[in-house]
Amino acid sequence: MRVVVTGAAGFIGSHLVPALVAGGHDVLAVDAVHRATTPRAAMANRAELARAGITVTECDLLTDDLGPLGDADAVLHLAGRPGVRSSWGPGEADTHRANVVATGRLLAACAGSRPRFVLASSSSVYGSAAHPSAECDRLEPRSPYAASKAEAERLAQRAAAEGTPVVILRYFSVYGPRQRPDMAFHRFIEAALDGSPAPLYGDGAQSRSFTFVSDVVDATVRAARVPLPAGTVLNVGHPVTVGLHDALERIGVQLGVPPPTVPKDAAPGDVARTWAAAERTAALLGWTATTGLDEGLARQIEWHRGRRGGSRG
Ligand code: NAD
Repeated sequence: MRVVVTGAAGFIGSHLVPALVAGGHDVLAVDAVHRATTPRAAMANRAELARAGITVTECDLLTDDLGPLGDADAVLHLAGRPGVRSSWGPGEADTHRANVVATGRLLAACAGSRPRFVLASSSSVYGSAAHPSAECDRLEPRSPYAASKAEAERLAQRAAAEGTPVVILRYFSVYGPRQRPDMAFHRFIEAALDGSPAPLYGDGAQSRSFTFVSDVVDATVRAARVPLPAGTVLNVGHPVTVGLHDALERIGVQLGVPPPTVPKDAAPGDVARTWAAAERTAALLGWTATTGLDEGLARQIEWHRGRRGGSRG
């Protein structure tokens, strides 16, 4: 397949692109690193891909001509501005532009050629989960970030109704090597290695369907290939929800020292629990998350140690 990946220099994109290349696909990897919420991390990811012989082409979905991107068998749209906390206040307009306006422009560029269009959405559209969230559940976005993803899904469903074969993937808290520096495990592991405390928002009783990045990549590649009705929505999340305190303890056990934390007020819109219902994705993609938390944490910890040993990039 000829595949376009947007957000290729991001955390998940930087794993997805090499997996597609290894699978023999012809990949056009694009990103606007200056738009990243964590530009230094995106620059480091781009440099790492370059060392593996993979070029990330500079393309800003908000300003560049996107016509050439529609000329593909599949467009995997991961570019955006993630993060619940940073989507409030001054971040709200940028979040809307990155997640809604950019998605609308890309969908318009694909309207004629109609490639398989895979949209990276988020579990945050569900709000807080009292039971496993199923794809047909009512959406309850509780932050500008969640609202922007719900709006991007609406745009994608409209394009599906007009003939673009769209698949919407709702990713649940992704972790692993190269995790964004604003995310919890990244901060906790660095805190334990440095001895300087990481913020712990709220009472730490939040729980998440933490999902390892290579499992997410596997689901995304399948979504690009497996025939599905246009507009199909699928959860990409581990079916077990784990508390932050439990995760902190596991990190502490693996590193031999508990990550120091400093309490901070709960972030608005930071929901108590996310919990993925896994049946639909298992049935339609033949996919379930297979990496357990201890194994996934071990691989992320190895990456943090490795970057300290060499250049911090
Ligand atoms: P990331 O910030 O690491 O990657 C996003 C990339 O998009 C960045 O490299 C950034 O430069 C690029 N980008 C932003 N605006 C752009 C624009 N206008 N043009 C071109 N590129 C642009 O994020 P991530 O964690 O890899 O997440 C990837 C996608 O998955 C995002 O859409 C995010 O909302 C979604 N998602 C992530 C998670 C998670 O846990 N990481 C969970 C749910 C959903």
